[in-house]
Amino acid sequence: MTKVPATWSSLNALSYAPALESASIVKLRTEYGLFINGSFDAPRTNEQFATINPATGETLTNVARAGEADVERAVQSARRAYEKTWSTMPGAQRAKYLFRIARLIQERSRELAVAESLDNGKPIRESRDIDIPLAAAHFFYYAGWADKLEHAGFGTNPQPLGVAGQIIPWNFPLLMASWKLAPALAAGNTCVLKPAETTPLTALLLAEIFQQAELPPGVVNILTGDGETGAAMVAHRGFNKIAFTGSTEVGRTIHRSLAASATPLTLELGGKGANIIFDDAPIDEAVEGIIDGIFFNQGHVCCAGSRLLVHESIHDDVVARLTRRVDQLRVGDPLDKNTDVGAINSSEQLERIKELVAAGESEGATRYSSSCELPSKGTWFAPTFFTNVSNSHRIAREEIFGPVLSILTFRTPEEAVAKANNTPYGLACGVWSEKGSRTLWVAQRLRAGVIWANSYNKFDPTSPFGGVKESGFGREGGRHGLEGYLNV
Ligand code: ADP
Repeated sequence: MTKVPATWSSLNALSYAPALESASIVKLRTEYGLFINGSFDAPRTNEQFATINPATGETLTNVARAGEADVERAVQSARRAYEKTWSTMPGAQRAKYLFRIARLIQERSRELAVAESLDNGKPIRESRDIDIPLAAAHFFYYAGWADKLEHAGFGTNPQPLGVAGQIIPWNFPLLMASWKLAPALAAGNTCVLKPAETTPLTALLLAEIFQQAELPPGVVNILTGDGETGAAMVAHRGFNKIAFTGSTEVGRTIHRSLAASATPLTLELGGKGANIIFDDAPIDEAVEGIIDGIFFNQGHVCCAGSRLLVHESIHDDVVARLTRRVDQLRVGDPLDKNTDVGAINSSEQLERIKELVAAGESEGATRYSSSCELPSKGTWFAPTFFTNVSNSHRIAREEIFGPVLSILTFRTPEEAVAKANNTPYGLACGVWSEKGSRTLWVAQRLRAGVIWANSYNKFDPTSPFGGVKESGFGREGGRHGLEGYLNV
């Protein structure tokens, strides 16, 4: 038997020397206008707001706040581009632009990764290895579809819808922009995109990439702004499609305001994903899957595995291993390549997390938080999990959208399925077991759009993503992602 060296445990405790990525690669302007008809210009509102670095609280730059008149200008610009160039252009030609955009994202990937980490607070390891490569991959993937739409399974001559209004959240800013734009453009639509108010930076850098790629003016217009700008987009009747990713609450408002219109809508909303660990699962791998499921991107993930359902017989073992692993997570400077967990995106989000964690404690669940030291400036929350959670607790029912896990137990596969489905949401679940037949049995009974087997939070442009129940409707990614942008 191999003997574990005596120094092993002390090796684990060694601290890492900082490995900082330089922020100097990102050259930000002091202010950014709205990207309409291929160039940046001032908003008609004459209003600006700051976008800040959540890890320090410092202002990164100032961006424009678009109002109704700007929405009108952007829609007109997109309409002109739709009629004059984009929808009439052969698919093969559109594909060339999308390939060019994908390559430019790759060329500027380091800059985009740093900008994303500065604006969002996510670790550079994630923006560099996940967000930005996946954003490029989405453009590459949909470039391939642009001249093959008649083979996508939506009829022999599928047509675009027209001008798409797209509203995205702050958790994966560039990636969500790519999820929305790439299929819409491949299908021949033009777009007006609104990034979230706390993370507009990479969408603005993407606008520069569109200029570099010589994308015809007006094909994509980018309006920075807050919820009011989003609401003005939804209220504008010049769109032929609205696509939204964000909270269930705002999704409901949008659904209501479009109810009486004929505008097609897709919604990708919240979640309360169950990560189900059976007693025959490879426990160490499953613990890594639990970590990925809830601490990836500070838990700011709609499909996060925020409810751990663990077979009762292995509960204590899993919790012991999880405790050790949580204590090893390095929380701190998002630009440090060693960092596992970065900053909470905004003080509003931090307050929401604190409120739900306090509810967990007062409802009687047992809290464990990593003893890591948190930076003195910026917005932070230590990786946390709760044991002794019951299904009726708020922390088991409401989306926390932070690095907080609720642990429940089950005894039989039937009980696991019943508990996993006992939620108004239905975005994603994970199943960990050595038995394929058991995984399939469970997966068939889970009411969620995505089921991961022996893995969690794995994304690929070829694979459709989306929810059921209050997690929304419509699919993004894969061949299915084209459907929401075609007149089928
Ligand atoms: P989160 O809860 O993740 O912060 P939100 O649903 O509040 O997400 O925001 C997601 C996106 O929706 C952002 O771009 C935000 O500006 C926008 N938004 C917020 N309120 C509205 C609204 N009433 N109508 C349209 N868009 C909105």
